[in-house]
Amino acid sequence: MDYIDLRSDTVTHPTPEMRNAMAHATVGDDVYGEDPTVNRLEAEAAAMFGMEAGLLVTSGTQGNLIALLTHAPRGSEIISGDKAHIILYEQGGMAALGGIMPRTLPVQDDGTLRLTDIQAAIRIDDQHFPRTKLVCIENTQGTVGSVPLSPEYTQSVADLAHQNSLKLHIDGARIFNAATAYNVSAAEIISGADSVTFCLSKGLGAPIGSILLGNKDFIKEAHRNRKILGGGMRQAGVLASAGLIAIHKMTQRLHEDHRNAADLAEKLKSVPHIKVLSQHTSFVFFWLEESAKLTPAEFTTAMRKHNILLSPYPGYERKFRAVLHYWITPERVDTVITTIKQVLG
Ligand SMILES: *Cc1c(COP(=O)(O)O)cnc(C)c1O
Repeated sequence: MDYIDLRSDTVTHPTPEMRNAMAHATVGDDVYGEDPTVNRLEAEAAAMFGMEAGLLVTSGTQGNLIALLTHAPRGSEIISGDKAHIILYEQGGMAALGGIMPRTLPVQDDGTLRLTDIQAAIRIDDQHFPRTKLVCIENTQGTVGSVPLSPEYTQSVADLAHQNSLKLHIDGARIFNAATAYNVSAAEIISGADSVTFCLSKGLGAPIGSILLGNKDFIKEAHRNRKILGGGMRQAGVLASAGLIAIHKMTQRLHEDHRNAADLAEKLKSVPHIKVLSQHTSFVFFWLEESAKLTPAEFTTAMRKHNILLSPYPGYERKFRAVLHYWITPERVDTVITTIKQVLG
């Protein structure tokens, strides 16, 4: 790569090892349940998280939608953060396709929903009300800066949900970043959850796919919902072979991305006209101050001329998000700093 792409971790390409595994993957018809590589990936992912079963899905959006369709019947209500991916960036799929009503609660700066807010939002049994079925949390919580939620917090939400006969779903697109940040296992970071979705793509580098996890009955029903959404894939072992490397190998190096993110944030602090807003896990948010001689659009163009891709955060003119991933080595962090100083100097 002769360019440095900080826009997202979704831009990563499969590693050479993944491409090799994909070329040689043993495959079968996964709609018949006969793809050994898919079956292995689903079983090994489930085992890592201490869950009974797993399902390979096409994307995180599909995994979340399948989870919601499986947990919540038409006309029921689910509780979610107002800044959650399922609310902001999934086209309202739960309403459009599932007839599910979202009840949103304010996401706090630490990524959590207040337990008291959750408790107050749970409906009592009354003919006026929809029935509450599910609580959804997001870990890491992306929009507030990829903030990791602790296992203790997750367990407390699970306990509250279960005391009220609700289920807990975690949108864990970057759950391994959260586990890395707390230095706990995948099973510990989701403690108490009934279902989880995580991305094989993004920081883990696989080209396509997410995994949905839950108990056997849940995954059996989720399987039907995947099919109706057009997610029944045939020789998907080609994708699963990259997924196996993602879960076993790429998860082991995420601390490097977190360290590089911390290093980038630290070095940005000494760059004139830049204000660092936050750094959590692999994300750095920073602000281009009014005092800079370039507008945000000019800054983006100038950086692009130096083969560094950055873009303002949607909805904010001066806020930028830099996401660290396996392409962004410590040397490249230094190149980014030198270049920003140069174009703003
Ligand atoms: C990326 C992401 C998803 C799913 O995205 P897809 O592009 O559909 O794979 C879901 N939730 C969060 C928090 C995400 O960051």
